[in-house]
Amino acid sequence: WDSRVKEHFWLSPDTRVTIELFYDRLHVDDREKTRLAIETAIGEHSQYDIEYRTVSPEGKVRWVRAIGRGFYDKDGNPTRFDGVTIDITRNKALEAELREALERVRFMAESMPQKIFTANAEGQVTYVNRQWTEYTGLSRAELDGNKWTKAIHPEDAPENLRHWEECVAKVASFECEHRVRRSDGVYRWHLTRAHPMRDVSGEVVTWIGSTTDIEEQKQAEVTLEKTVAERTAKLKETIGDLEAFSYSVSHDLRSPLRAMQGYADELLNEASQALSPTHRNYLERIHRAASRLDRLTQDILSYSKLSNAEIHLHRVDVSKLVHEIIEQYPHLRDSEAKIEVREPMHDVIGNEAFLTQALSNLMNNGIKFVAKDQRPELSIYTEEREGCVKIVVADNGIGIERRHYDRIFQIFGRIHPDSKFPGTGIGLAIVKKTAERMNGSVGFESEYQAGSRFWIALQKAT
Ligand code: ADP
Repeated sequence: WDSRVKEHFWLSPDTRVTIELFYDRLHVDDREKTRLAIETAIGEHSQYDIEYRTVSPEGKVRWVRAIGRGFYDKDGNPTRFDGVTIDITRNKALEAELREALERVRFMAESMPQKIFTANAEGQVTYVNRQWTEYTGLSRAELDGNKWTKAIHPEDAPENLRHWEECVAKVASFECEHRVRRSDGVYRWHLTRAHPMRDVSGEVVTWIGSTTDIEEQKQAEVTLEKTVAERTAKLKETIGDLEAFSYSVSHDLRSPLRAMQGYADELLNEASQALSPTHRNYLERIHRAASRLDRLTQDILSYSKLSNAEIHLHRVDVSKLVHEIIEQYPHLRDSEAKIEVREPMHDVIGNEAFLTQALSNLMNNGIKFVAKDQRPELSIYTEEREGCVKIVVADNGIGIERRHYDRIFQIFGRIHPDSKFPGTGIGLAIVKKTAERMNGSVGFESEYQAGSRFWIALQKAT
């Protein structure tokens, strides 16, 4: 009350004149109801609490809230009347502004295609627009408070209400997708969003929400998902067929190829003296070409086998595996390369055979793609991040130019001619495929002419 208390008046039965003057000061429209309220309170010996307008001699109107009560002698006659009045002009103006703002919102809401609603700070729906009542066939009274949940699919309503109450409590924007029942009983998918509107002091004045029919988008999504699933299945089938095809082709190619290699060998061993240097050179070329074709068919075979091979994933001791690979592969063991295995290494979830193939390919490349006059240096180590382990093979080789980045993991994606760095261009495609089959991924960083870091990322074994 404090500073807003404007007057304190005291009345006794002989100050009737004063009270008449008081009524004269009131707005004509408020005089009768104020008089009635005061007289009723006196008659009933009760308190009154009323709002009215006062008009100053200059004609200035102010809103006032008055609370008062009378005191009575033992015969029930009023002896005194105490009351306080508070100037509420500003509150009234704010209320009117708010009412107008809400009216405007509602007016706009009625003319929109969406279903619009408002709710109070407690989350109780206070208004729904015509689109809500027309769509659901329910009246406003049937949708207010928490009754709107009746129009929501029973499978969605409890969760929607829980989420709504949570957002109201936290004063956080609300969003959900749910099925709303049309008047004919058909449910259609809708997207509902609501935002709190605050006053200057930060208090929530109202929530304003919209509900949009998204049934068609939903249907389109379902159709799209179905189409994608069907196409993926077909594509997988085609890839499977192609891989089976390349497997059998490569397989069948190998026996005539062996015959070519074998006879060329025989000729070189047994008849090379009888051949002219040119013819001998031709024969050596045939032999080299046959060997290269053999390597190619073998690599294609390995690649196609990867897709169909059964794979069992288990814990793999990476450190042990790397040492075994170095021991087993003579060109790694006996090469002049400096190979450093940085311990400790993290174990991964993978498959030993697949990982052996992948890591040996990476290590071979690391040694192979080095400038002629440079001693190859390999560093193998692991890095752990967020449950994932990267097995890194870093080299001091020729590096890769940025423009070739996209090609190198593709099958036959080679950069250099076979004469400079022999190979088939399938090694990294195999690394990628093995990593994918072990639910992992591959990648690299490289600096042209200053080395590369290739890695396979797999799930960490705990
Ligand atoms: P291949 O080794 O048989 O050529 P890969 O699939 O293993 O085939 O590699 C594809 C290409 O990627 C290579 O031809 C080479 O150009 C490049 N490459 C792979 N590893 C490295 C590396 N460690 N350093 C530089 N280039 C590399």
